[in-house]
Amino acid sequence: MRPDGPDTIGGATGVAGLAVVRNGHIVDPASGRDEQGDLWMRDGRIVDRPTDDEAKGAAVIDAAGLFVLPGLVDLHAHLCEPGFEYRETLESGALAAAAGGVTAVACMPDTDPVIDDAPTVEFVRERATGAAAKIHPIAAVTAGRRGERLTEAGELAEAGAVALSDAGRSIRNPAILRRALEYSRMFDLPIFVHCEDPSLSAGGHMHEGSHATRLGLKGIPSIAEETVAARDLMLAEWTGGRIHVTHASTAVTVDLIRSAKQRGVRVTADASPHHLVLTDESLSTYDTHLKTNPPLRSKADVEALCAGLADGTIDAVASDHTPRSVDEKNTEFQEALPGATGLETMLAVVYTELVRPGLLSLGDAVKVLSASPAGILGIEGGSLAAGGPADLLLFDPDGTWTVDPASFRSRSVNSPFTGRTLEGCVTMTIAGGRVSYRRDTPESP
Ligand SMILES: [Zn+2]
Repeated sequence: MRPDGPDTIGGATGVAGLAVVRNGHIVDPASGRDEQGDLWMRDGRIVDRPTDDEAKGAAVIDAAGLFVLPGLVDLHAHLCEPGFEYRETLESGALAAAAGGVTAVACMPDTDPVIDDAPTVEFVRERATGAAAKIHPIAAVTAGRRGERLTEAGELAEAGAVALSDAGRSIRNPAILRRALEYSRMFDLPIFVHCEDPSLSAGGHMHEGSHATRLGLKGIPSIAEETVAARDLMLAEWTGGRIHVTHASTAVTVDLIRSAKQRGVRVTADASPHHLVLTDESLSTYDTHLKTNPPLRSKADVEALCAGLADGTIDAVASDHTPRSVDEKNTEFQEALPGATGLETMLAVVYTELVRPGLLSLGDAVKVLSASPAGILGIEGGSLAAGGPADLLLFDPDGTWTVDPASFRSRSVNSPFTGRTLEGCVTMTIAGGRVSYRRDTPESP
């Protein structure tokens, strides 16, 4: 486990010293708790119940009628700084995270400059000091994400990178990925792979299938993802390296991961909320906010992803929060950049679309959003056990709200869920013992 330094403790206004979250329904799969109770914290850590004398001086947060959940850990967000601050900054991204109940975020290296050396990793960590969520940089596998020369995995790990990824690009040269996976063993850094063969996906705008044909849009075939996933899993098996398949989107990819796990390959995987909920059929309106990479897939793919999440093949749900400016989205479908924001809607989408219909238990939903991703990154958190960081959220299961990007903390408004009514809302987020988000009006989440 990688200890967090004081530089990563986020937060603004505070619960100082001893505090108790009282009378909530605590759901913490990591410690096996699912019960009504109190949760105590002191100086940024979760603690056992203090003596009665001490308890008298505690600040009290009333959680009656609310779930108390471990703070969410997001494996995959584009926070756009340095270089694309018009879309998002580390500060605004952390505020968006806090509003979604997320207390730790792994941010992707597709910035300008690319996060591909130790000074840039340190720059991001420095810039994120005091932000509303802990920011953990993922560094590039290859210099400039160009796929040609490996970065210095040891120095990047030393500087605080939690994983390596060429973010948004597959590693074309298998010899490069082989070496990267060998280094991943040495430094215990997972390699996050984006599985896409650009020679198969080039020029495509949505999932290849009958809906693309009807809409007259060039498709991106499932096989563009699956051939690369198969190759990357074989390389992971061959090397014994750690691989993480991020934003898996097709049924065959889920099957490939499932059988790799059965063979003992060191693979983990995540899926994004939009891939678990939305299909290519929804693109009939040519809404560019539904243009993502990977594209929204077929109903059968969505069902396979949900089944994979339920049976543990897919370990985590990750937002793939990808802010885009209004200009980058308000254009012809073919011209619009792919990407969707997700930090602020992730939990409510999972709760509304997977937990409420019975596809996933609340405990399993919490696990795939907290303990599992924390384990993949090797960071603290994802648990409400005494001794861990006081990273948690209060969730009102009856708080219905309508997604309105005007209320977003993110700098960008490109949500694929705009206008959708969601059940369950985050009422408070506490990161490192400090309140990082508090819901102010019933209408804004
Ligand atoms: Zn991404």
